[in-house]
Amino acid sequence: MTQLLSAPSSTEDAPRCRHLTVNGRQCRHRVLDTQSDLCFRHARPLPMQSDSEDLSPDLLPQLSPFDSAVDINQFLARLLVLVTKGRVSPRRASVLAYITNQLLHSHHAIERKQAIDLKNEPFTVDFGDLPRPPR
Ligand SMILES: [Zn+2]
Repeated sequence: MTQLLSAPSSTEDAPRCRHLTVNGRQCRHRVLDTQSDLCFRHARPLPMQSDSEDLSPDLLPQLSPFDSAVDINQFLARLLVLVTKGRVSPRRASVLAYITNQLLHSHHAIERKQAIDLKNEPFTVDFGDLPRPPR
């Protein structure tokens, strides 16, 4: 006598959410989170990201004047960590990265302006503090 092996049906054998309704019936959705055995609807939702949370303690541990590329690089590295941890929304991170990019471009513009001003400055020698030859 042969026994037929039936392939497990994908939806019927999948573990069901352990959430019970007020009537005592088990939720009919499949388990999404195996740690809690809850479905997508009853698993704990991720905390909402607030785009107005004060992130200055994490992003600006020392008050940086952002006057160098190194400051901006460190800021972006901290921002990457916060985005990766889910503490900053990608939208807010994009805005902050855009602003730092503008700062970086303004540094280059300031340096170019200073170089041009220095080039156009007339050559002068100030002998004010030198001792005078004896007469
Ligand atoms: Zn459920």
